[in-house]
Amino acid sequence: MTQQGGAAGGDLTGARLLLKRIRTTMARNLPAQARLDEVVRTIAGAMVAEVCSAYVLRAGEVLELFATEGLKAEAVHLTRLRVGEGLVGDIASHARPLALADAQHHPQFAYRPETGEELYQSLMGVPVLRSGRVLGVLVVQNKTRRHYTEEEVETLETVAMVVAELIAGGELIAREELTPVTGIGVLPERMDAQALAPGLALGVAVLHQPDITLTQLVAEEPLKEIDRLDDAFTSMKLALDDLLTEDDGTGGGEHREVLETYRMLAEDRGWANRIIEAIESGLTAEAAVQKVQNDMRARMRDIQDPYLKERLSDLDDLNNRLLRHLLGIHELPALRDLPENTILVARNMGPAELLDYDRKRLKGVVLEEGTASSHVAIVARALDIPLLGHCAGLMAKVQAGDPLVLDGENEQVFIRPSEDILQAFAISMNALQARQVSYAANRDLPAITKDGVEIQLMMNAGLLIDVPQLSATGAAGIGLYRTEVTFMVAHSFPDVARQRDVYARVLDGAEGKPVVFRTLDIGSDKVLPYWQRDAEENPAMGWRALRISLDRPAMLRQQLRAMILAASGRALNVMFPMVALVDEFDAAKEILDLELQRAEEKGSVLPETVRVGAMFEVPALYWQMDEMFARVDFLSVGSNDLAQFVFAADRGNAQLQGRYDPLSPAFQRLIRGIIDAGSAHGKPVSVCGEMAGDPLDAMALMAMGLKTLSMAPPAIGPLRAMVRSLDLGQLQAYMAALGAQRGADMRSSLRAFARDHGVAL
Ligand code: PEP
Ligand code: MG
Repeated sequence: MTQQGGAAGGDLTGARLLLKRIRTTMARNLPAQARLDEVVRTIAGAMVAEVCSAYVLRAGEVLELFATEGLKAEAVHLTRLRVGEGLVGDIASHARPLALADAQHHPQFAYRPETGEELYQSLMGVPVLRSGRVLGVLVVQNKTRRHYTEEEVETLETVAMVVAELIAGGELIAREELTPVTGIGVLPERMDAQALAPGLALGVAVLHQPDITLTQLVAEEPLKEIDRLDDAFTSMKLALDDLLTEDDGTGGGEHREVLETYRMLAEDRGWANRIIEAIESGLTAEAAVQKVQNDMRARMRDIQDPYLKERLSDLDDLNNRLLRHLLGIHELPALRDLPENTILVARNMGPAELLDYDRKRLKGVVLEEGTASSHVAIVARALDIPLLGHCAGLMAKVQAGDPLVLDGENEQVFIRPSEDILQAFAISMNALQARQVSYAANRDLPAITKDGVEIQLMMNAGLLIDVPQLSATGAAGIGLYRTEVTFMVAHSFPDVARQRDVYARVLDGAEGKPVVFRTLDIGSDKVLPYWQRDAEENPAMGWRALRISLDRPAMLRQQLRAMILAASGRALNVMFPMVALVDEFDAAKEILDLELQRAEEKGSVLPETVRVGAMFEVPALYWQMDEMFARVDFLSVGSNDLAQFVFAADRGNAQLQGRYDPLSPAFQRLIRGIIDAGSAHGKPVSVCGEMAGDPLDAMALMAMGLKTLSMAPPAIGPLRAMVRSLDLGQLQAYMAALGAQRGADMRSSLRAFARDHGVAL
């Protein structure tokens, strides 16, 4: 990058001179109030204004006059304006500067007699922003009709960044008051989203990729700062290039596109030049990056165009990346001190990243992207953490610390909710809790339909802490234990002893209820932090699950050995994921047999029974069903992957969400075919994908003859209520009469049936 403009090394410009003076003031050992008084005096002098005042945002969304040069001294700490009230309140509520030659005739002008403001005709004010948040307002006023220039506005904005640090120091107002109740837009917002894990949550926003707070704002040597910026740009671009070459698609289909956009934006000369201009006004490189971003946010916050909004969130993200490179912060502080009621906000995240957070403090997650069958959603459901996804424009609206309400029932996110929303939330929360109490009270009631068909409601699990959910929900067993989750949360590859310990504790906790252990299903979006792998073009269809286990048989042997040792005299159910060929199942089964033989030779106590099954996730299995059923003890349909491969639609791609319905004729016929083949061979078939936990999908599956469903624990209660209120024979007759219907039609027909027949959905 080359140096822009002439001021960088030469004469001090107005802004730089002012900043230099303010820097001297800030460095003096004075109380904060005295420094603020000195700052407004200095600004008034340097900007040739009769008045300069600083307002600080206090709890309750009130702007209090904290210091003034020019207005009546007795008004200090007395004059208070609500956010949105008067010109000062307007600047705060929109986080946007105002420059008015004739301020008194502006419709927003609010006259305060105690200040003596009637003397001043013109006004220029800027928000005091820190990490994108309004902390106050800085204003200058003149008696004459003064047309403030854009440069003067910029200068005041630059100085406001220093004032922000003074306020954030916590001396002027207590730090607790700084805990924001307001964001860049201080008004409440409602956004539509999709409930990917059910529930309600109230808490404060924690950004998965947090904003960075700056300590050094003012710099003496612009040339040095420009060099630093130059280096940061270079290293950021290199890092983006690395990401692009490494990209394994773990962020879903849009991930690469986002990276490419970043790479393009990083080349934007206009952006770099604006930062350089801000450096030339006397800021450090990092403060200059922040200032340009503040300006951009203020300018773009009212834009409705979804594409441009998306770009704003890209710019935020890119801005954070550039700051990290400038400040040498290369690790994401994923495990910071979290507030008690954290609501995690992210564009998207992987399942392992979610598991990094302290679950006790995590009340909810909201994602700009995300889909129901993405693994982050599955993990959230397993952890019973409400997750809303597909929330377009989220990142541009939410600031760290914003109060948030997640309403999974109505699929809405409220940012900075108003009092009436909070009241409505409390009512919904009570109703939800009442429903949960009733599910808990009914947990021991059999899951039998009105016409006497028993359904096995099993739960999916992946962590030891999930196991107590078995008794809490009254699930009949664990129909899918995703062993990879243990591997994902570990810091290194768990050895046989560690794995045996985990599996034994799962079986202990299950107290005799059946548990189906699925062997390692890593790859695709399930990554092990300690295992670096080569990038793949198409990881969902790549080297994953059983394919890895067969290519690295030592890993599979160790896992099976750990399961055999853990079962020791108890029933062992093993299931292999992503089987595409009968031969693959045979190879895996052979390894299991060898391990059983080895255990016997070593004198270990063998499992009481061993049942071996496979996941039906790859369509090719459909044409090998006779051979498959002849070999397995059971099959479980992984409808998440199966649907992704049948429809050729990435399960993690938010754009394809809802486009292909598993209730559409093609998928129904496929499932029916599998169930019928299972009956013909006398082998049980279950479904353990996300369909199984959706009451409407589950109704359709039951009508097709399915008797075992395995789902996230929070779905068990609602499913039991559905099963117990359903006459399956009636539903089967109804569906037979409907014939083949499109997915959406089938859904509305099923819903109508449920409504007319009192089925609890
Ligand atoms: C599935 O694919 O439906 C399944 C249950 O496995 P996972 O979601 O873990 O890939
Ligand atoms: Mg799967």
